[in-house]
Order: sequence, then structure tokens, then C-alpha cells
Amino acid sequence: MRRKRPLAQIDPQRCTGCGRCIAACPLPIIAFETQDWRKYAVLQDAPRCTGCGVCEPVCPVGAISLVQRPEI
Ligand code: SF4
Ligand code: SF4
Repeated sequence: MRRKRPLAQIDPQRCTGCGRCIAACPLPIIAFETQDWRKYAVLQDAPRCTGCGVCEPVCPVGAISLVQRPEI
């Protein structure tokens, strides 16, 4: 059986809004959202995420993990 590509998951509670993941991702699919004056990164276009994993190690607070893509 072919394994599905993983999906990046960002924990909004941990995110400090540094923007490193946005700069590192080869696609324009992570963007900032602001709530209660707090800025955090959100994966806005999950279907386009290739699961390349580039964003995970650049996060200084470990807010990004690669998870199994949910079944559709
Ligand atoms: S896993 Fe790759 S494509 Fe997906 S958000 Fe991270 S850097 Fe972008
Ligand atoms: S690299 Fe981590 S802390 Fe920085 S914006 Fe991305 S998820 Fe948030």
C-alpha cells in the first residue's frame, strides 16, 4: 500500500509568530492570523502541503509537527 504524504500541523498555542516557517516553506501556504492582538502561523492551504518537512526543524519552539493526513 502506498503511504500517504504527511501534513504539517502548527500548534497555535506554542507559536510565537516569528515567521520562520513562512519563509522556509517552498509554497505560499502558511500565513499569519491575528487574534486578541496575538499573531500566529496557520497552515492555510493544507491540501497543497507536500509534507516535505522543511518547516518543522526551523521552528524554534517546536510548534510544528508532521502528522498523518486525515482520511478523506
Ligand atoms: S511540510 Fe513542506 S509544504 Fe508543508 S507546510 Fe511544511 S514546508 Fe510547507
Ligand atoms: S516557525 Fe514556529 S514559532 Fe515561528 S511562526 Fe512558524 S510555527 Fe510560529
